[in-house]
Amino acid sequence: MVLINENYNKLEETYLFTRIAKKRAAYAEAHPEAEIISMGIGDVTLPLCPAVITAMQQAVQEMADAATFRGYGPEQGYTFLKDAIREYDYRAYGIELADDEIFVSDGSKSDTGNIGDIFSVANVVAIPDPVYPVYIDTNTMAGREIKLLPANEANGFCPQPPEWHADIVYLCSPNNPTGSVLSRAALEEWVAYARREGALILFDAAYKAFITDPDVPHSIYEIPGAMECAIEFSSFSKTAGFTGTRCAFTVVPKVLKGRDSEGREFSLNAMWNRRHITKFNGVPYIVQKGAAAVYTDEGRQQIAEALDYYRANARLIKQTFDELGFTSFGGDNSPYIWLKAPNNMTSWEFFDLMLEELNIIGTPGVGFGNQGEGYFRLTAFGSHENTAIAMQRMREYFSTK
Ligand code: PLP
Repeated sequence: MVLINENYNKLEETYLFTRIAKKRAAYAEAHPEAEIISMGIGDVTLPLCPAVITAMQQAVQEMADAATFRGYGPEQGYTFLKDAIREYDYRAYGIELADDEIFVSDGSKSDTGNIGDIFSVANVVAIPDPVYPVYIDTNTMAGREIKLLPANEANGFCPQPPEWHADIVYLCSPNNPTGSVLSRAALEEWVAYARREGALILFDAAYKAFITDPDVPHSIYEIPGAMECAIEFSSFSKTAGFTGTRCAFTVVPKVLKGRDSEGREFSLNAMWNRRHITKFNGVPYIVQKGAAAVYTDEGRQQIAEALDYYRANARLIKQTFDELGFTSFGGDNSPYIWLKAPNNMTSWEFFDLMLEELNIIGTPGVGFGNQGEGYFRLTAFGSHENTAIAMQRMREYFSTK
């Protein structure tokens, strides 16, 4: 019989969303009249914007004609999309990237998970707690040593560089699940740490489109010296509603180096390119045409409207909790609101209360790590109508308590 990768035995059960789904189903069966509102899963509700739809329809037409049909494309992505990324995601913030420093992919989940392929299992990895679970799980699968960086109220859910050495550090800003953001000064400290320690930062910017504060960088490369110590992940999922359409991109600067056990230096860009072309065959042309349309004047205006729609939800949620006297975080520069459960309730106790008394589903904070115990994540990705109804229920229930 085949020998398995025993590291998989060390993975925590992915029971979080399964347990939520089970509890919801059981409640719905017992209370068929209940109108349950989901503010739990981080998926968008608005459809793709018209500019994207038109571009994808045109691309479908091209695929229908032998003269314009396309088969395999460049694994790293078409130049028309990478040029738009270079212009609007980077040059607009004073960052110059070469075409071959950008790798278009089918998602930041895959990229943040797969990037580990090019690193030794001997690296010590620092990961914030609570966190987007992919970082922990993929490093556990690889068998790397993980050290946690506690994120809590004392540090504003933004862990500082530790006293100890790490080889790889995961940072996510704006953060899932806490909604916290790393300011320019905080990122400068991380870049200084990475350069001092010879560490590599893996910077997940999946929610950068929600940033409005000028003091919060959209890219880690806005910090001088970051090109020499950071890889950055971005995605069209939350920026432009591509969660089901699938398109993202990762930047691996050519100056980034790693070393082998004998101290010889290697280009991480060349290694990621080798990994990418070996295991990935490119994002569909139709999808890349849709993604490129996000950067047109029309597309930018339309996605700005969609982002404002979610921001209005975030403001309403935050304002409701403030008025009710809850302690909450996030919601500015972020679609996530991180709520402290009242009266020292655990995350799951508060989940049950919200489901049973208010018919609202959120995500227990403890599902993102032990430091998340006692917290609860709500998302602004719902419709205005449902968000308003949910907040009205909150007011009615908690203002009498
Ligand atoms: N990174 C973070 C922090 C996320 O929360 C998510 C999705 O929820 C992703 C990456 C995944 O992005 P994608 O849809 O591009 O795979």
